[in-house]
Amino acid sequence: MKVAICEKLGEKLTIKELPTPKVGDNDCLVKIKASGVCHTDLHAVTGDWPIKPVLPLVPGHEGVGEVIEVGKNVDFLKVGDRVGVPWLYSACGRCEWCVGGRETICPFAQYSGYTKNGGYATHCLADAKYVCKIPENLSYEAAAPIFCAGVTTYKALKQTKVIPGGWVGIFGIGGLGHLAVQYAIAMGMKVVVIDIDDKKLALAKKYGASLLINGAKEPTSEIINKKIGGLNGAVVTAVAKKPFLDAFNSIRNGGTMACVGLPPENMEVPIFDTVLKEINITGSLVGTRLDLQEALDFAAIGKVAAEFSTAKLEDINEIFDKMKAGEITGRIVLKID
Ligand code: NAD
Ligand code: ZN
Ligand code: ZN
Repeated sequence: MKVAICEKLGEKLTIKELPTPKVGDNDCLVKIKASGVCHTDLHAVTGDWPIKPVLPLVPGHEGVGEVIEVGKNVDFLKVGDRVGVPWLYSACGRCEWCVGGRETICPFAQYSGYTKNGGYATHCLADAKYVCKIPENLSYEAAAPIFCAGVTTYKALKQTKVIPGGWVGIFGIGGLGHLAVQYAIAMGMKVVVIDIDDKKLALAKKYGASLLINGAKEPTSEIINKKIGGLNGAVVTAVAKKPFLDAFNSIRNGGTMACVGLPPENMEVPIFDTVLKEINITGSLVGTRLDLQEALDFAAIGKVAAEFSTAKLEDINEIFDKMKAGEITGRIVLKID
């Protein structure tokens, strides 16, 4: 199989041939057709986070394609099924979090494109229980971004507990954020968007965002507090520290901010305001298999659609350069054949 592989953190990926993995009894082998490029993949190969990925690494956790082989215990998937392999490669299924419906925070979880080889490849091995089928009317390219960017923001919006008619702020309108805006609107929320790039704000306006703020030029929390009395909820996907503080300062009493973006920095929040306003700060990590099915259903009925352009596996290093420079609008999806 052909892969784009990271052999040393901080170095460019190389294109290589590797032996196609053997299918274990509980696995399936997916012939990858498309694979979205998430900013997490860039953090992974740069070594940005305290826990480092397993090297050598084939990144990618938005890989989608066709099942071409299944293990002998797999009776719920068949050759020819169209599936995606999400970030949650597998979980233990037995711990208090798995049993309680929060499998994404299972301490024994494996991650596609981080602890296991992922979708930047012509073939990808997966734990059959954790892949998700793609609705018939979604193309591979349209489905790929839902497997991380879509499900992650949909789940984070649910975590904010904002009800229809409530105000939510989406901080960072990149691959994740542009889908967050669409989910929020489909869920009946009123949306404020914050980015440092006017092109990304314009995209959010097209989806129906009511208030657009360029966080590099305008005083974000002052505008939000003055114009709408603060946010009921916020989803912060930006890859910088400042928007996290802006979000905190924009939350109204009793509201919730869901932290999703993963800049390698710390966030200092004032204890006084947290207590007096009873502000909830929660982390939100991707979504469960059920969240993923629901997120795909929104796409299947046309309520959300990723804005994407396609590229080749061989283009990955240039794509990462563009991502670092903040030059990507929507998602780039690798078309793999
Ligand atoms: P992206 O590069 O496509 O988008 C990032 C966006 O943030 C861009 O639009 C950029 O203009 C904007 N931005 C940068 N600095 C900003 C600032 N100061 N204020 C406002 N906006 C700013 O990245 P992505 O693929 O959408 O991923 C975003 C982040 O989410 C990454 O850190 C990624 O690792 C993380 N992530 C987390 C999860 C999770 O489960 N929690 C899942 C996927 C991705
Ligand atoms: Zn991702
Ligand atoms: Zn578990």
